[in-house]
Amino acid sequence: MIALSPLPDELDRAYLGRLMRMNGLRSELEIVNLMAQWANVPPPSRHGVCCLELLCRAAHMEMTQFVCRHTTLPLRRSFTSYFPDLAHGSPEGQSMLRMTGMRFARPCAYLCVDCVKSDLTTYGMSYWRRDHQLPGVVLCTKHLRPLRYVDNNDVFLEPPSRFVDNSHEVGEAWARLNQHHSGIQRFLVISRELLDLDKPIDVKTARIVLRDRASERGWHTHSAKSTKPLLSDQVLANFPRDWLSTIFPVLADKKPGIVLNQMDGVLYLSTSASSVTPYILACCVLFESADEALNALTVPRSITVIPRRRQAITPIDTGELRAAYIAAKGQYALILPEFSGSRRAIFNSLEAIGLPNLSVRDSQSLLAAATAFFVKKRSLADSAALGGIELDALEHIIRQGGAHLATALTDIWAPPTGPGTGVLRVKPKTPAEAGATITQAVEQSPCHRISELENST
Ligand SMILES: [Zn+2]
Repeated sequence: MIALSPLPDELDRAYLGRLMRMNGLRSELEIVNLMAQWANVPPPSRHGVCCLELLCRAAHMEMTQFVCRHTTLPLRRSFTSYFPDLAHGSPEGQSMLRMTGMRFARPCAYLCVDCVKSDLTTYGMSYWRRDHQLPGVVLCTKHLRPLRYVDNNDVFLEPPSRFVDNSHEVGEAWARLNQHHSGIQRFLVISRELLDLDKPIDVKTARIVLRDRASERGWHTHSAKSTKPLLSDQVLANFPRDWLSTIFPVLADKKPGIVLNQMDGVLYLSTSASSVTPYILACCVLFESADEALNALTVPRSITVIPRRRQAITPIDTGELRAAYIAAKGQYALILPEFSGSRRAIFNSLEAIGLPNLSVRDSQSLLAAATAFFVKKRSLADSAALGGIELDALEHIIRQGGAHLATALTDIWAPPTGPGTGVLRVKPKTPAEAGATITQAVEQSPCHRISELENST
């Protein structure tokens, strides 16, 4: 057998197809049997070795490594109540890998014409990328070009170059709406971060974290009837229905005020509400950023579950924190090992002194953009372009950097209260006032930009 190494971000099934073609075979059955023969194991069966295992052997990779780099399982299984402590691709989960390991994350096969061209030049062949197959992805992050798609998942065994002309195009307007919509962008960032995790998030942890956030906002958090705002309605208010119909159709069809367990259930069900999509959507409307959501969900469960005792809090030294931030070039992840204390406490302290996370991802450099703006005095748009990031992302950093100014401005406009001001205490609110506050809070949340965008289109 001609064995090949998988290409960067190559989808599992695309790799299977490439092995099939390189060995001059025409069907999946033929290549699977050849791989089994080559690995000296019986052909795949209900209880024996599975196709995914044969692919790992052909790739000379550990199952955990192959699953995390080439399947969509880490995203599809990112929130689970089924053996949540089991790492993705762990041998103990063999029956699960056999059943669901190579499933698709969404219908249709997506390709980028520019990636196809560049792969033909670099590798002499084109291949299907995993990132392009994730729910909600309609634009290639490398070429910023709308993807094309074939309405058939069987084509992964063939090279994408065959479908450059023979495929549907994602419309330019649709792709740009996705690119500029802050909520959709947050959905995609969270999806990709989840894909990078080596083990899932326990549904029980997610339920506690999300319910606490929803409860702080005064939203409905249980299955009984209530007049409080529903999580499902908040999601509907913050995302275009058309877009939702592409990732979660049942929600897109929902009527206001009606509980939808598949969505609202993420706050009270102890097993997965349906797919991981509602969990990601909940994170989008309950947290200000993808980082914040992931930090809250990935803290050790004991911290979330054990009742907190009053403890003497050791303050983190601001000077040391600043020095560590400089040494780490602003990347929070590199600062963490230097300090004791919870991840969240360290992040909060950094944000409080106006030092935002300048995390690095692919070709996007928040550091380069922030340096261009603050140090080289370039314009906002130029700086964002220089760092290869969206304007939104740079604006977010600037706002965080202006933490002290923001607090002072809020105080300037806050009505006077307390002794000597003639206002003894904040008056208990009437139900109508409470309703008004919720509306205001929604309007002021970053996701409100989404509804503005919708209204302006
Ligand atoms: Zn591309």
